[in-house]
Amino acid sequence: MRLLIMGPQGVGKGTQAALLSKHYGIPAISTGDIFRYNLKNQTPLGKEAQAYIDKGELVPDELTNKIVKDRLAMDDAKNGWILDGYPRNASQVAALDAMLAELGTPLDAVVALTADHDVLMERMMKRAQIEGRSDDNPETIAKRLDVYAKETAPLLDTYKSRGVLHEFDGSGDIDAIQATIVAELGE
Ligand code: AMP
Repeated sequence: MRLLIMGPQGVGKGTQAALLSKHYGIPAISTGDIFRYNLKNQTPLGKEAQAYIDKGELVPDELTNKIVKDRLAMDDAKNGWILDGYPRNASQVAALDAMLAELGTPLDAVVALTADHDVLMERMMKRAQIEGRSDDNPETIAKRLDVYAKETAPLLDTYKSRGVLHEFDGSGDIDAIQATIVAELGE
């Protein structure tokens, strides 16, 4: 199973990706997590990405596409994966299409989670207090939601027109949402 999980920040993508990963026995790959790991360890990649992440902007495509390509080539990704937080713009969609063509594997489904703006802001502020992420402050959160609306939300139409989009309300109970997704995607 090869899946994308999409939706605005705070909608619960990471939580649902972790549950889907467990259910299908495939790795959940979060570009945000990969960047945060590199930031924490101050690797060359982390240093290059830091300024963008701190401002709530997208890290340049060239850098981002490469980390995804390298990650999808790893052994544990042979039988499937869930990508969380990628692709985020049209050029990343094209890059992913090229990676899939090269690997000779199709994309099975795109899981899109939706929620009201107020629910998202509230969840992100709560997460900021718990996790202390450097990019979880009101200005950066607003910037990230803005980038999502402008660059990422239009991609849902792209995947809808390809017939792979499945949309779910992300504001309810976590386990109930998970059950609905699995019922729709199949065991
Ligand atoms: P996230 O945890 O997915 O919200 O990602 C945190 C930050 O990492 C984003 O605000 C971006 O700066 C960067 N990032 C994560 N995924 C991508 C991506 N696909 N393209 C560009 N930047 C990304």
